[in-house]
Amino acid sequence: MIKPDWELTFSKTFVDVPDCWTTCDSACCKQDFNQLPFAFFPKGASMIFTQREFEWLEQSGKLQEGFKKYSSKYSWTLDNGQDFSYYTSVCKLEGVCSLPNFRPLLCKFFPWFPKVDIKNGSVVGLEKGTLFELFWPHLGAKSPCTIFNENDPTLKAKAISAYEDLAKTPYFLFHFKLVEIVMKAIDISISSAFKSKDPNDSIIQDWEKSYLQGSNIDWKKCRSEISAIYDEIKLLHPDAVLI
Ligand code: SF4
Ligand code: SF4
Repeated sequence: MIKPDWELTFSKTFVDVPDCWTTCDSACCKQDFNQLPFAFFPKGASMIFTQREFEWLEQSGKLQEGFKKYSSKYSWTLDNGQDFSYYTSVCKLEGVCSLPNFRPLLCKFFPWFPKVDIKNGSVVGLEKGTLFELFWPHLGAKSPCTIFNENDPTLKAKAISAYEDLAKTPYFLFHFKLVEIVMKAIDISISSAFKSKDPNDSIIQDWEKSYLQGSNIDWKKCRSEISAIYDEIKLLHPDAVLI
């Protein structure tokens, strides 16, 4: 069985620019933006984990302070009958990780997330690494992330190489593709909310309400696409753990 090696995975840094937080007051960790006046999203940085990632961190005693308290587990059944779960949590550490080497993979990947070709595991693009980043173009605003704005080709090449290394494990290949599908659906819902309207608080709060009710994202289509990707990767790697 080919499965993720979590010790090795967390030993990697992916995107690591020492002291980058000094340029933005830890914007990605605080996620507290005047231009995004959400009414219901919890204060702090929203976290999402694959099921195995969260459970390995928890069993190894490597969860950041407070993560367990705010955690929730969600489960879906894909169209192919496969059960699938993931965890969410909220980070209230405001940029001071209690266990820096074991911060969630999403934090280690930020500000990007890889778009992959599942046939050969290559990274064919870099997507935005959080839901919040999807809002800035609609608000006519720059990302608060200095690394994202600097767009340094050397740093991007280093990140791509680290993502490709991880994508050699089919578990990550599957989850990279899964996140791409979900982020695309969220991006469509945000674009549609801003269509022919001026950006204002009510658009953002209406979008947030619909998002939390699950009514502005086509989750049925997402599940069906994720199921098809699962089947495709399973055919390529029959011995691999994907979920
Ligand atoms: S927002 Fe970007 S520059 Fe700021 S701390 Fe996060 S990764 Fe670093
Ligand atoms: S775990 Fe660390 S890097 Fe991630 S949001 Fe929390 S403080 Fe920031």
